[in-house]
Amino acid sequence: MRAAVLEAYGEELAIEDVDSPEPDPHGVVVDVEACGICRSDWHAWRGHGEWADDRVPIGQILGHEPAGTVARVGDRVSRFEPGDRVAIPFNLGEGSCPQCRNGHGNVCEDGYALGFEETVPGAFAEQVGVPHADFNAVALPDAVSTVEAAALGCRYVTAFHALAHRADLEAGDWVAVHGCGGLGLAAVQIASALGATVAAVDVREAPLELATELGADATVEAGDGVDVPAELEAVTDGGAHVSVDALGRAETCRNSVDCLRTRGTHVQVGLTTDAERGEIPLPMDEVTRWDVTIVGSRGMPPSRYDELLRMIDSGRLEPGALVTREVALEDVSERLAAMSGYETRGIEVVTEF
Ligand SMILES: [Zn+2]
Ligand SMILES: [Zn+2]
Repeated sequence: MRAAVLEAYGEELAIEDVDSPEPDPHGVVVDVEACGICRSDWHAWRGHGEWADDRVPIGQILGHEPAGTVARVGDRVSRFEPGDRVAIPFNLGEGSCPQCRNGHGNVCEDGYALGFEETVPGAFAEQVGVPHADFNAVALPDAVSTVEAAALGCRYVTAFHALAHRADLEAGDWVAVHGCGGLGLAAVQIASALGATVAAVDVREAPLELATELGADATVEAGDGVDVPAELEAVTDGGAHVSVDALGRAETCRNSVDCLRTRGTHVQVGLTTDAERGEIPLPMDEVTRWDVTIVGSRGMPPSRYDELLRMIDSGRLEPGALVTREVALEDVSERLAAMSGYETRGIEVVTEF
């Protein structure tokens, strides 16, 4: 089968003919019909993560936001059969550790990150293997297309889990979203659908226009000389109840914490770059003084997909609205390169393999 393989950090991915995956006894193999291209792929492609001993190995097939149709199933799989349409979370659990058993498969103690580890080759390929499929794979309702399901990717579900479960967002809250890439735009649409009033922040005009279309009530164009927390405090009449750093730079994280009102919650969903290497100074005395909560959020447990799929089914959420471009496998390298200059907009999806 054809696959896009990481041969050298920052160099064009090689389109190679590789062996098709065989399912583990507990796994399935999926014909990939759509796979989102994500900033996490960009981080992997650039070789980031060595500071956390988390660098993606050379030879890896990237791609972790797939949706498609089950082609083959292992002997011990009971929930799926060939022909079933599925979405695959990137944060795969093994299904039996205390976290998995308590519904937190996204932080499985012995889990896998699809497309980032040798044991789980990714989905920039014609087929992808999914371990522990009964636990991990998510059956798609007819109303959700494969492209929409790929748009759920890691970004949309990450934003949903961050807002609905981790920040415990309430209707009427002000939500600030820092960084309007795919993850930030998903947060805008979801926060709005959950009943919040949303302020979107970015340095670029085009994503802010898209944020407005997706439900942002206010926008702040950041940039030289702009005091983002002060602007947001004015817009939100006292600060955000919940603020999301959807980019992962020192400045966006700091602005997110600084723009909160008393007892506000900051959610970190963006991963840092090689400038921060995971370390960002924050005003912790202020966090203490004002009962501020800081939480992290990664992906979403497979057990919580139902809530999100019901909201899509009923038309309250439209992940497809974030899809701005469909491309072929050969185009992935060029689209990753475009992310270096923040030139992409919304979510781009591979649909030709
Ligand atoms: Zn587990
Ligand atoms: Zn992703």
